[in-house]
Amino acid sequence: MDFDLFSSNSSMEKPKKLHAALLSSPGMGHLIPIMELGKCLVADHGFEVTIFVVPSQASRAEAEIIDSAMTPKLLDIVELPAPDLTAAGLGPNASMVERLAVMMREARSAFRSALKAMEAPPDVLIVDLFGTEHLCMGDELRIPKYVYVPSNAWFLALLLHSPVLDKEVKGEYVDQTELLKIPGCKPVRPEDVVDPMLDRSNQQYHEYLRIAGEIAMGDGILLNVWEDLQAETLAALRNEEFLGRAVNGPVYTVGPLIRPVRPAGLGKELLEWLDKQPRESVLLVSFGSGGTMSAEQLAELAWGLELSRQRFIWILRKPIVESLDGSFFDVGKGGGDDELSSFLPDGFAVRTRDVGLIIPLWGPQLDILSHPSVGGFLSHCGWNSTLESIVNGVPMIAWPLYAEQRQNATLLAEEIGVVIRPKELPSKKIVGREEIEKLARMIIAKKEGHQMRARVKELKSTAEKAVTKGGTSYESLRRMKEDCKMRIHQINKAH
Ligand code: UDP
Repeated sequence: MDFDLFSSNSSMEKPKKLHAALLSSPGMGHLIPIMELGKCLVADHGFEVTIFVVPSQASRAEAEIIDSAMTPKLLDIVELPAPDLTAAGLGPNASMVERLAVMMREARSAFRSALKAMEAPPDVLIVDLFGTEHLCMGDELRIPKYVYVPSNAWFLALLLHSPVLDKEVKGEYVDQTELLKIPGCKPVRPEDVVDPMLDRSNQQYHEYLRIAGEIAMGDGILLNVWEDLQAETLAALRNEEFLGRAVNGPVYTVGPLIRPVRPAGLGKELLEWLDKQPRESVLLVSFGSGGTMSAEQLAELAWGLELSRQRFIWILRKPIVESLDGSFFDVGKGGGDDELSSFLPDGFAVRTRDVGLIIPLWGPQLDILSHPSVGGFLSHCGWNSTLESIVNGVPMIAWPLYAEQRQNATLLAEEIGVVIRPKELPSKKIVGREEIEKLARMIIAKKEGHQMRARVKELKSTAEKAVTKGGTSYESLRRMKEDCKMRIHQINKAH
C-alpha cells in the first residue's frame, strides 16, 4: 500500500481518509445492519465506504433499502452478480445457513474482481458473519480485516463455543437434559439453540462450525449491541476462555445501529390512521423479512387479535408451511390482498375494521414503531427488529421462529426483561387464540405491559447515550479506527 497514515502532512492537504470495503451477505436482515454500519463509519468516523452486496433475489424491498442509503449519497454500493446456485449444486431444500454459505462462496471470484476493479485498494475489509471465508482477501491485499456480527453477545458466545460443544456433547443438542454451558455466560436451554444446531447431520451445522472457527482469522469483531445491554457476556467474551482462541482481537460494541426513521416513511393513509389512535395503544405484528407460519397458526393469531379488542397493525404474509423462514430470500413477493384475506377467518377484516389495519407482505416497520400510538410489538425477535423496538421504547411479545430467534427471545425475557412470551415455543406448538388474546391485552393494557414499557424506555436512553459522541459505542468505533491505523502502519513497515 502506498500511503502512510502516520506521515506528516506537510503540504497542508487534508489527510487521506481510510477507505473501508464492507461485504454484506444476502437477506434484508444482513443488508440493513451493514448499511447502517457503513453510514456510521462515514458520518461519525470519517471513513470512505464501499459496500459490496451479494444479492438474494432482487426484491422491491431490497432495492428500496439500497436506494435509501444513496440519498444523500454517503456510500458507494456495488451489487455483485447473483450467484448461480444450480451450478453450485444447491438443492431447492437446502437450509438457510447452507444456502447463505454457498451463495457467499460462489460470490468469491466476483468479489475479488470487484476489489481489483477499485480505483485504489481499500485500507480495511469488514465482512459480515457469513463472509468469513472472504477474510483471506484481507491477507491478499495486506490490509486489516474485521468481522461484523449484526447480533448480540450471547449469540456470539454460543457460536464461538460451539466447536467445544461439538466435541463434548454426544447426540443432538435438542435432546440434552442439561443446559448447554458457555464459560462466563448464561447457559443455553437445548430447545433454544440456533437453527444450524438443531440437526448435527445437516450440512448447515458444518457451515456454522466452520464460521465459528474462521472468526479468529479476523483482527477483531464488531457487534451490534452496546456495553450496558450485555455487560457480563461481553466481559466473558473478552476473557481468556475466548480471547486468543476463538477471538483474535478486540470485541467492539458498535450498536445499536438501526436505520433512521424516514420523515415520510409511513405514507399519508397510515400516518392518518395512527394519528387517530390513543397513545401507546396499538400492537404492531410483524415477523421480519422471512417469518411465516402455518395456515392454522395464522388463523389462531387472527382470532386472538380480534378477541383481545386491542388496536393492531399486522404486516401479513401468506402461510408457508415447509419452513418458518419461508420468505427470507424473496421477501415482498407473492400473495396479493385477495389471496391473503383468504387465509383469515371469514369476516375478520370487516369485524376488525375499526381497530385493525393489515399491510400485505412488507411495511415500514421501523417508522410504525416510532409512532407514539404504538405500545407493543408482536415480533419474531430478529435482532434488527429487537433493536428497533428498544430504541423506540416499545415492549414486545416474543414469537421466535427461526435462526437465532429462540435464543434472542430467552435473552429478552430472562436477562433484559422487555418481552412477554407464550408458554410454549411457537415453532414447537400452535399458540391458541385465548393465549394470544391474553398476551395482546397484557402488553398494551395491563400492569405488566406498563412496567415493561418503563424498562424499555430506560434501555432506550442508555442506547441513545451509547451512540452519541463520547458514548461507549461511538468510542468503540473510534478505537477500532485507531487499531486499524496501527495495523496498517505495522503492515507497511513489514513490507
Ligand atoms: N422489515 C421492514 N418491513 C417489514 C419486515 C421487516 O422494514 O415488513 C425490516 C425490519 O424493520 C428490520 C429487518 O427488516 O430492519 C428485519 O431484520 P430482523 O433482523 O429483525 O429479522 P430477519 O429479517 O433477519 O429475520
